[in-house]
Amino acid sequence: MREDIFNVADIFGENVFNDAVMRERLPKKTYQKMIEVIHEGRELDLETADVVAHEMKEWAIEKGATHYSHWFQPLTGVTAEKHDSFITAPMSNGKVLMSFSGKELIKGEPDASSFPSGGLRATFEARGYTAWDCTSPAFVRKDAAGATLCIPTAFCSYTGEALDQKTPLLRSMEAISEQSIRLLRLFGNQTSKRVVPSVGAEQEYFIVDREKYLQRKDLIYTGRTLFGAMPPKGQEMDDHYFGAIRERIAAYMKDVNEELWKLGVSSKTQHNEVAPAQHELAPIYAEANVAVDHNQLIMETLKKVAGRQGLQCLLHEKPFAGVNGSGKHNNWSLVTDDGINLLDPGKTPHENIQFLLVLGCVLQAVDRHADLLRESAADVGNDHRLGADEAPPAIISVFLGEQLQDVVTQLVDTGSATHSLKGERLETGVRTLPDFMKDATDRNRTSPFAFTGNKFEFRMVGSQDSVGEPNIVLNTIVAEAFAEACDELEQAEDFDMAVHNLIKRLMREHERIIFNGNGYSEEWVDEAKRRGLPNIKTMLDAIPALTTDKSVALFEKFGVFTRAELESRAEIEYEQYAKEINIEAKTMIDIATKQIIPAVIQYATTLGNSINTIRSACDADVSVQTEILMEVSDLLTDTKVSLARLQDAVNQGVAIKGDNQARAKFYQDEVVTAMEALRAPVDKLEMLVDKEAWPMPSYGDLIFEV
Ligand code: ADP
Ligand code: MG
Repeated sequence: MREDIFNVADIFGENVFNDAVMRERLPKKTYQKMIEVIHEGRELDLETADVVAHEMKEWAIEKGATHYSHWFQPLTGVTAEKHDSFITAPMSNGKVLMSFSGKELIKGEPDASSFPSGGLRATFEARGYTAWDCTSPAFVRKDAAGATLCIPTAFCSYTGEALDQKTPLLRSMEAISEQSIRLLRLFGNQTSKRVVPSVGAEQEYFIVDREKYLQRKDLIYTGRTLFGAMPPKGQEMDDHYFGAIRERIAAYMKDVNEELWKLGVSSKTQHNEVAPAQHELAPIYAEANVAVDHNQLIMETLKKVAGRQGLQCLLHEKPFAGVNGSGKHNNWSLVTDDGINLLDPGKTPHENIQFLLVLGCVLQAVDRHADLLRESAADVGNDHRLGADEAPPAIISVFLGEQLQDVVTQLVDTGSATHSLKGERLETGVRTLPDFMKDATDRNRTSPFAFTGNKFEFRMVGSQDSVGEPNIVLNTIVAEAFAEACDELEQAEDFDMAVHNLIKRLMREHERIIFNGNGYSEEWVDEAKRRGLPNIKTMLDAIPALTTDKSVALFEKFGVFTRAELESRAEIEYEQYAKEINIEAKTMIDIATKQIIPAVIQYATTLGNSINTIRSACDADVSVQTEILMEVSDLLTDTKVSLARLQDAVNQGVAIKGDNQARAKFYQDEVVTAMEALRAPVDKLEMLVDKEAWPMPSYGDLIFEV
């Protein structure tokens, strides 16, 4: 065990240019201005920016920073940054000055041509801009490259189209805030000024030994194993879950937490997950844009710290076939600036009415836009996960739990809800609704969208994907439902009657999206079909949801995406799909050709020689050896044939030019199938060939020996 003891409170946020630092270092007037900019969305003037930039630089230099970087999230899924030094041209005395202006703080101009734009920006129009998102604080990041002042930014094209996750996320946050305030005003709230989506993203990941990782080209190039037979022991024993976290991992988690705390990320819980070598980290929830940034920092930190400790962090959704994959649980709620959570069922019937309306609106949003929500969780890796017996199914449904379900059922069946499940009768009457108890019901791990006390948990997101997109979708679809409800209620003569009728109607119309049963069961698939719920199995089937008329109308109404932006995002996803599968296929070809086939030939040759040696020495029975040799030879033939087919498929895939969707489809139908066909004989060979002769660490080596 490491002995160094530190106080979390002492280090928490020490590398963040947060409110406390601003209050301490900025002139009072400037600080006041910044608070208005951050909390009231005022515009930032250049004079203020200059003062802030100067102080930020001084602060960062004290922390050892030599460079600054606009830190942004292009549509590649990972963060990007361009480092600039604070150093200005040398002066006549040979010394240099360190400078950082307001202009450099608020606007950057990275060469945008190498980031995906899906046709929004031709490569020759390389210009793109990063703009400071001052609601997410700047921070100093320390690594082998030294210390860098990182400034969270949005990334747009020259003509203002969003090329990142941040821009539409901020737009969607404005939309949900505006519509939530409208709704709150209807219920007499005159004090709240803003409503912010709160997000807590739980992150799952695998940890393996780095030495072993380096012997697996598939892990290096694609983040997942492309070959590999299941070990004799898998996760069936359930002995890993919440088991004692091994020392090595414990030391790793300690360092991860320390790094994250310094960056102001409130990493809170850690435990082992269902699969061997799998773990989870959850931060305390934060405002959506901060939470999205923090999730990126968490992923970066998990990888960086692992590297330093001879470990490797795998963030892929499915690093090992047959072993549970990794996801990300996106916990989401709506909280006012004065601390009221709209998803809290509350204690009084009056608040319950507001809560039930919010609930009805969420049901409408999820039911109407199930396809968009599903799309927001689509990435190449998640295709291995959704719908398998481990992650939520590919069908979107909402879990409410017994108690809430009971209220909804009463409303739907009788038009009024008069009692809660505990059997206590509350004052009856058309407009009175029962009180709920938090956590009165069990958890349901199989539901993709579950109500958990005072928040919804969207569990479909892939482990390496940004949580940006799911939150953009959630914020916008719920904003739409709120807007429609407000349009109706603002006109009502008898508000109480109107809201009661609206709640009933929303529950009736969207009850079909509620499912409290086992989401992994076959019956649910049939039942969902009967209910008319979409079952969108793959990423390629999901992408078209982005550009339907329904989606374009939704996003344009709230100024979150234009049609062109949506179309570009769809293009990027098709492109991404084909690219990633192409890399996987080529990696398989490489491994099969250069490692597996030679190793198997060598093994077969040795086996053949020893059979001959035994035969010539005596007439002992060599039928077992011969049988194995026959089997190995047959599988080797299969491997060779499948390899040639895969190579052929890849050649055809690469030749498809221009049409991203068609190329992606070809990769899904032909290349993925050919990859599976190659994997099958190789995995069988792994079970036959001497372990010493196999050219790479096995699943067992990787997941049981960390
Ligand atoms: P659970 O037991 O439901 O998984 P946890 O308390 O472990 O709940 O929290 C899981 C994640 O949800 C954490 O990141 C937590 O900060 C976050 N969370 C808790 N309450 C809220 C809320 N009101 N809104 C958004 N996220 C929340
Ligand atoms: Mg959870």
